[in-house]
Amino acid sequence: MIDICLLGTCGMMPLPGRWLSSALVRCGPALTLFDCGEGTQIPWKSLGWGFRQVGAICLSHMHADHVAGLPGVLFMIAHAGRTEPLDIYGPVGTQYVVDGLRRIAAELPFPIHIHELKGGEQFELPGGLQASCAPATHGIPCLAYRADLARRPEFQAEKARALDLPVQLWSRLQHGETLTHDGRRITPAQVLGPPRRGISFAYITDTRPTEVLNELARDVDLLICESMYDQAEDLPLARANAHMLATESAGIAKAANAQALVLTHFSPKISNPSFAEKAARTVFAKTRAAHDGMVITLDFD
Ligand SMILES: [Zn+2]
Ligand SMILES: [Zn+2]
Repeated sequence: MIDICLLGTCGMMPLPGRWLSSALVRCGPALTLFDCGEGTQIPWKSLGWGFRQVGAICLSHMHADHVAGLPGVLFMIAHAGRTEPLDIYGPVGTQYVVDGLRRIAAELPFPIHIHELKGGEQFELPGGLQASCAPATHGIPCLAYRADLARRPEFQAEKARALDLPVQLWSRLQHGETLTHDGRRITPAQVLGPPRRGISFAYITDTRPTEVLNELARDVDLLICESMYDQAEDLPLARANAHMLATESAGIAKAANAQALVLTHFSPKISNPSFAEKAARTVFAKTRAAHDGMVITLDFD
């Protein structure tokens, strides 16, 4: 199971009652943060999921509305007593910016490992999530992310009984271990069912739509995507500023065969995100506009 909280939903600048766009992901007890604009620590604190368990922060790009909250968040994590390492992922240039922000957050009780990515890499996130990323198109290096949680095949007890395996050995096989019993080598495949579909989400923000992003989000259960503009006449602005209309985000969801789309990163001039939702639904019906603090749970079928 994966819980995702949209901590904020605003692009460019925080507004009274609307924080900057970021997502906190919980998988088991482990947390991963996606983007960290100014003030992100405040909705995070209100949520009550704690700070100590955050093992990774994935940054889309180095604009202030996605990174300026980092010093405060690092202090909160330190205050919560974390001593284990924290991984920060981001595009080329992340080291330089994080080093600069660290000048006002130098003394931390945990090491920080920075990983600069170009897009196309695969890596592990806390809680057993398998992550991948792709380059976004935003004028400066920018990454879109995807995370998958695999599901173990079903344990088939009748097969284990037919092999005369004691119940005490079952969970080891279920967790993928090959073992020897009564001189026989028993593999997990002998007692497990066929592969089962996992769950996945993609986080795409601050970009024009591209084929690469359609592929990154292929068949995801949830696409979290920017919706900087909601009106068709804003297309020239969206092009000039390398952002998207709500209908363009919906186009990615449709092309990728996503199960659901949640819109976020609304321009400060969008006072009512339901217009973006309405526009997007003309392209992709299973669209919702996020609101600050919205929690979405993805569960296995
Ligand atoms: Zn932004
Ligand atoms: Zn940006």
